Amino acid sequence: MRTIMLVGIVIGMVFGNQNKNGFYRTASDFPASGDGECGGHGRHVCDTAGVVHSERLTQKLHALEVSGPRHHCAASGRSFQFGVVTTKSISIGGSGARATAKEVQTFTEQVFNSWGVGHRDCNDGLLLFFAIEDRKNHLKTGLLARSILTDNHIVDILVSVKPELRAKKYEEALLKVVDRVINEALRHGRPPTFYWVDSWLLGAPHFCVSNPAFSFLFLLVALSVLHVWRKDRLQAARRASFEGKLKRLQKARDLLSKRGDCREAPCPICLEDLPPSLGFEEGRVEQGCELLRCGHVFHQPCINHWLRNKPQCPVCRADRPEINKEFPGGEETKADASSQQAAEPDSYFWFAARQNLLADFQEVPGVGRVRHGNWGEYSAFDSGED
Ligand SMILES: [Zn+2]
Ligand SMILES: [Zn+2]
Repeated sequence: MRTIMLVGIVIGMVFGNQNKNGFYRTASDFPASGDGECGGHGRHVCDTAGVVHSERLTQKLHALEVSGPRHHCAASGRSFQFGVVTTKSISIGGSGARATAKEVQTFTEQVFNSWGVGHRDCNDGLLLFFAIEDRKNHLKTGLLARSILTDNHIVDILVSVKPELRAKKYEEALLKVVDRVINEALRHGRPPTFYWVDSWLLGAPHFCVSNPAFSFLFLLVALSVLHVWRKDRLQAARRASFEGKLKRLQKARDLLSKRGDCREAPCPICLEDLPPSLGFEEGRVEQGCELLRCGHVFHQPCINHWLRNKPQCPVCRADRPEINKEFPGGEETKADASSQQAAEPDSYFWFAARQNLLADFQEVPGVGRVRHGNWGEYSAFDSGED
């Protein structure tokens, strides 16, 4: 029993010795603010790792507290309390196994609480911790400081000192972090615009900036999904439009064959309705529609566009079908508009109209096939009476 106690005391002494020279296993071993182990830098800096060689840090942190930007908590016009702490390692005995980020975070929080960094009623403290041999650092913020210095901003600032850490310029790294925290956040009383937006958007902007390749890929995937979705919707709309026009064509043809009523006959180019009472008593153009020599009637823009490509009536293929129109060779089509009448739709009319419709919608799945032979696909319209 006595032997076990002795061994315990010896082990205690061995680990007790490890607590000196910058090695601390727990925050309760850590010296109080301003203690001799801290290197005599005053109460803002506790450098147990021995990496701070000037008073620049102390001066900055003291100046921040005494004459720095006033925050809005408490009428007395206080500023933030910002402490800096270093150790060589917080892993057991500095045995080479590095402390984890979580352990470093817990350690920082414990020192922050046991020191009581910040004014108690304002929670305006910050504590920067470097564990040199663990190669970890952490910046603990009280509630008030966290509203101004966001977590992602802290990550960016800590990452930005990697070159100094690699070069073992620890004091420069500490100074850089302290300067950026004060100048970019604390001085303005609110986060910089990017981090302000970032905190509202749950860190998405920061994520995109930190992961550009992933964000680019994600954007590509999102755009292609959007593209496919839009294409599907457009195609569905085109299909619905095609079927609507085909039905109307069918109905107009039925009305004509059953009751001899041709008022429903559409423009055979666009398959849209024509005005109901076209007499062409004043000439070849009436209500935006044009009568051709052959008696076929179209919307004027439709037939003008058609004849620019091919000078033939789209229904009966009559050459140069326009009434009283001069052509480049000087000849003129002689026909008196008043003697012309709109022709009743015949089988050529329905065939041409149907072909135009199929050609207009040939990119709609199924329609191209119908156009090239399979007439059964849209059997609602049957051309068997030609
Ligand atoms: Zn038309
Ligand atoms: Zn014609």
